[in-house]
Amino acid sequence: MPRVLIPVFLAMLVLAATGSAHAADPQPQHRCDDYDPAIAWQEAPYEHFSICYTAAYADDVSWVASWVNYAHWRLAWKYGITELRTVRDATPNDPSDAYQGGADGARMHVNVMLLPRPDGNADTGITRFMHGWGSPEADALYGAIADPVRYAFIPYVTPSAPNWSTADRWGMLQAPAGHFHAKNLMHEYTHAVQHTIRVGETEQRRPWDYLPLWVTEGLAEFEGGAHTTDFYRTVGYERLIRYVVEEVPDQVMLQRTETLAETSLATITTTDVYFGGHLILYWLAETLGEDVHRRLMRYEHETFNAALMAELAAADMTMEEGWAALRAWVAAEYAAITAPSAAPVLPPPPDA
Ligand SMILES: [Zn+2]
Repeated sequence: MPRVLIPVFLAMLVLAATGSAHAADPQPQHRCDDYDPAIAWQEAPYEHFSICYTAAYADDVSWVASWVNYAHWRLAWKYGITELRTVRDATPNDPSDAYQGGADGARMHVNVMLLPRPDGNADTGITRFMHGWGSPEADALYGAIADPVRYAFIPYVTPSAPNWSTADRWGMLQAPAGHFHAKNLMHEYTHAVQHTIRVGETEQRRPWDYLPLWVTEGLAEFEGGAHTTDFYRTVGYERLIRYVVEEVPDQVMLQRTETLAETSLATITTTDVYFGGHLILYWLAETLGEDVHRRLMRYEHETFNAALMAELAAADMTMEEGWAALRAWVAAEYAAITAPSAAPVLPPPPDA
């Protein structure tokens, strides 16, 4: 069973997040308008993000805003940030980069686009964290918006859109719709935090260069799974274990052997970096404490591989020993989940 710590004050954060706009909230600034100008966007602005929506789906705003607000503060607490900042996603001295010379570390404001229908960036099977500038696509999105604040976009089919009712899957774990939406919003917002943490690092240590894909996506899945709804901590967790063991035949846990080079764990690619990565990040949290995620993301080593090796070494494990422990853990979790139902283990009575 999952044993990741869930701080008890989270319920308070959720309550706070569902409150109405407070006095310091900014005014709408037409942040939504450049994303598909054919859509009549309305903006619900918050301190770190805006919910961009259409009139027919205004009732979706408060629910989505609550989860995005929760994601912001949950992740800000875990990773030690106070606000979102952005990194340049452009090649230095590239003459096609219209924003050449723009400062690294500008404030980032995330626009969650509640699409009335799927578009090229999001449908009921995919959504994105869109960030960067210097490309025609990015120019079209960012061009009309003034410095110094930079903008990122999370296009998401609005939860009440009819397209969801006909989706044949709400994630491979077959999550109920509301749980799936909450997980996805947390997932994409995690990417915004991953960018924020990188500010100030060298060009070669941008998150997409420094971090393996199983870390960026696996950690986003972990945050969405461990820190949104009970479904993902219970039924969804068991389905995750089953899925990885049964449905991904070349999954890392099943195919890797003891002959792998010492660096294997940090350089693996899998057919499913999302679920495989999720499980590895979960195991690291179980084994080393969840703060391992923050430490791994702080770029205190020259490479991610070195950071991971240092974490395992602190627990007296080599990379290979860590790998073996991970596989044993997955096997034990799977065995526990698939075992014939056992009698519940009850605590002894008080006078025993
Ligand atoms: Zn992602």
